[in-house]
Amino acid sequence: MAELTLYDPFEKMQFSDSNCFLCGTTITTEQRTPVFASWLQQQYNLQQKELLLLDKSVTTFGDLTIPCCDHCHLHHVLPLEQEVEQAATAGLDGLKALDKQKLFQWIGKMYYGTLVTELIKEANPLIMPTYALSENPQMLGKFRSFFKVLQSLRVPAVFHDFLPCSLFLVEVSPTEDDLPFEYQDELTTMAFSIKLGSVAIVCTLLDNGIIQRALGRLYRLIEDKPLHPIQLAELKARVFYAAYILNVVPEYFERPVKHGDTHLVLDTLIDDVTKEIFNPWEMTAYAHMLEEMLKPWSIREQQILRPNNQVLSFLADESGNFKTIERFNKSMLEE
Ligand SMILES: [Zn+2]
Repeated sequence: MAELTLYDPFEKMQFSDSNCFLCGTTITTEQRTPVFASWLQQQYNLQQKELLLLDKSVTTFGDLTIPCCDHCHLHHVLPLEQEVEQAATAGLDGLKALDKQKLFQWIGKMYYGTLVTELIKEANPLIMPTYALSENPQMLGKFRSFFKVLQSLRVPAVFHDFLPCSLFLVEVSPTEDDLPFEYQDELTTMAFSIKLGSVAIVCTLLDNGIIQRALGRLYRLIEDKPLHPIQLAELKARVFYAAYILNVVPEYFERPVKHGDTHLVLDTLIDDVTKEIFNPWEMTAYAHMLEEMLKPWSIREQQILRPNNQVLSFLADESGNFKTIERFNKSMLEE
């Protein structure tokens, strides 16, 4: 019978270098798995590339590893990485054809790897973090919910009628694209983006697809068109801001396991009765997020906010049609 018991590291806050991140088994400190897979590191030359952690310390993509037992590494992490690597060789079409649950697990592992690194650090009594994730009960509840669905990476599980996340996959046009690899995540809002060559994936990890539905019209407008990097930046701003104002956390429930079951079945529930799904969309707050994402183009907030509570857009014109951008020039800010 398949192993159908979920592991809950949050119950006893079991975050240490001697517990496998995925199953909790006691391991030696040598047993680890990279957060960013070896194939990614090789393909995009990431080994020495620096990475800023939440506590402002700097590591490299090559050095960022998490505790993982040999069994989970060989039987769960590596096969998933091989599958994604293969899909990625076929570019956008390959990644779009990949099972969405697998894509969720793949992104989720990188996100959770970064998170676990923080939680292990915070468990060290010598470290006094200024912003401790582990001391925020609301955050911990969210992470716990997330880890339940992430475990489908180890425990065979079917999500009944839902995908835990929103996924936006787009192609970036090569004309002015000089970043072969880009990665960004927000630990608290669970927004994530990664760019692999000409393909970008923007994801919100724990919204049961709510943001994808909310931004559905925009996504349909752009999903089959190569985007200029500045358009990708705007897509990220919209998705990251939506994650920021998302006001609900899905809960997940396992159905009781019967003898002979080969997988778990998970159901989900979102409390949209006592809570609004989103906090109000504030144009100035969104403009600020957009300004952050547009930093490489040095565009100021004054240029982003327009009269009548409008905000500059590189994706759609005033009638809602797609804007084709071959090359960026400052005159686009005057339109
Ligand atoms: Zn394990």
